[in-house]
Amino acid sequence: MSEPDFEVAVVGAGPAGALTAYLLARDGHSVVLIDRGATPGSKNLSGGVLYSRVLGQVFPDYLAQAPVERRITRNVVQFCTSDSAIGLDAWTGKLGDPVNAVTVLRAKLDAWLAEQCEQAGAFAMPGVRVDELLTEDAPRSALGRRVVGVRAGDDELRAHVVVAADGVNSFLSRSIGLRPAPETHQLAVGVKAVIELGAGVIEDRFGVSGDDGAAHAFVGDCTQGVAGGGFCYTNRESVSLGVVLRLDDLVASGRAATDVFEHYLAHPAVQRLVRGGTMVEYGSHLVAEGGLAMLGEIDCDGMVVVGDAAGLTINSGLTVRGMDLAIGSGIAAAGAVHEALTGADTSKAGLARYRRRLFEGFVGQDMRTYAKAPAFLERPRTYTDYGPLLEDIVLGVFGLDTTPREPLSRVVRAALRRAPVRTRDLAADAWAGVRAL
Ligand SMILES: Cc1cc2nc3c(=O)[nH]c(=O)nc-3n(C[C@H](O)[C@H](O)[C@H](O)COP(=O)(O)OP(=O)(O)OC[C@H]3O[C@@H](n4cnc5c(N)ncnc54)[C@H](O)[C@@H]3O)c2cc1C
Repeated sequence: MSEPDFEVAVVGAGPAGALTAYLLARDGHSVVLIDRGATPGSKNLSGGVLYSRVLGQVFPDYLAQAPVERRITRNVVQFCTSDSAIGLDAWTGKLGDPVNAVTVLRAKLDAWLAEQCEQAGAFAMPGVRVDELLTEDAPRSALGRRVVGVRAGDDELRAHVVVAADGVNSFLSRSIGLRPAPETHQLAVGVKAVIELGAGVIEDRFGVSGDDGAAHAFVGDCTQGVAGGGFCYTNRESVSLGVVLRLDDLVASGRAATDVFEHYLAHPAVQRLVRGGTMVEYGSHLVAEGGLAMLGEIDCDGMVVVGDAAGLTINSGLTVRGMDLAIGSGIAAAGAVHEALTGADTSKAGLARYRRRLFEGFVGQDMRTYAKAPAFLERPRTYTDYGPLLEDIVLGVFGLDTTPREPLSRVVRAALRRAPVRTRDLAADAWAGVRAL
């Protein structure tokens, strides 16, 4: 191999890129970590629940060292009508010991991860936008080209391996023909705000104390029937609040994502949680939602693709996961790139260990397990009919208006007769849910 500027150039300092860079630098490789944000994380946006055991594999002391906000011990899922919310409230301290999920604010987390990379010996280049891949002809390669570095403005930077960790739009992997542009049904738009409330208010309203926190998910009228949902996660002093809306359904609805967010924010079940707070952050970002079907080629001669850039997210309707998969893919990629560099074979064949490692671990296996989730979440009744149906049943159970009560089975049958949902639709949706999730 000719001498490059660095052995590895990682483009993107989100969790996927940072973990890859950190592990490779720790293994003694020369690594550059490039990000267009003035500081790593400054352009990044996430709902904020990180299923964090995988982070603990790399940073065993992360709970004490990393900027985590609260550990999630309470999960609430609610179906909404315009003025009600009915759902499941699951609290268990067992999710807090060992810690399963934590809330994070990306501006803090990504900056901390970049710091760990630098301490491990990686060279950080913030504020630099990579414009294109540097490639050379490689007639025997499937793509006819081999990646040999990146270009940013007038600067060229050569590396044995480029790691494309440039997020959901991944212009790098698309530019070399590894992945097609995602289709609209494979994408969602996220709109998110951070609202300051103070720790005392959070503890009172969310029923948590100490380091514990809650994750609320909302489905139904809160998104005005658009496929997707709302979330509200507790940080230490603030909450992360937002909606994730499937792009094709949003476009078909003729609504703007920001208007749906405003509607969600005004919903009484949401207002109950955030009233009187101060909005300190607001932003919008795309989310990869296509699941396994969106995962294309993730390696070629001289390059691997990690995290969102590879389409590695799972929305099960109950949990939105991307950060843990990004970290898991970074771990798999770092292991494979290390072996390829050690064996002096950074061709596609040499880097193919990455895909194997990914599918031997939880990332690939979970992508397979939830492969049917995107199709299940396309069922429109979830967003329009189940909230009113549940409300009807709950009113039949709790609404004691001095008329004689009916047994639950009759309450449910009567509610089903009034709802646009047929019993067979309900059964089909329930069966599809069980199989997909
Ligand atoms: C509203 C919303 C809610 C979400 N909620 C959750 C959640 O609760 N839990 C969860 O686990 N996941 C959630 N996700 C998904 C999660 O945020 C992503 O899966 C995760 O951030 C992916 O990490 P990544 O490192 O692959 O990419 P990113 O975090 O997107 O990082 C990509 C990096 O690449 C940089 N970059 C891009 N192009 C270039 C370029 N040309 N040159 C230089 N740098 C470049 C960017 O600046 C950025 O720092 C949510 C996403 C959204 C939008």
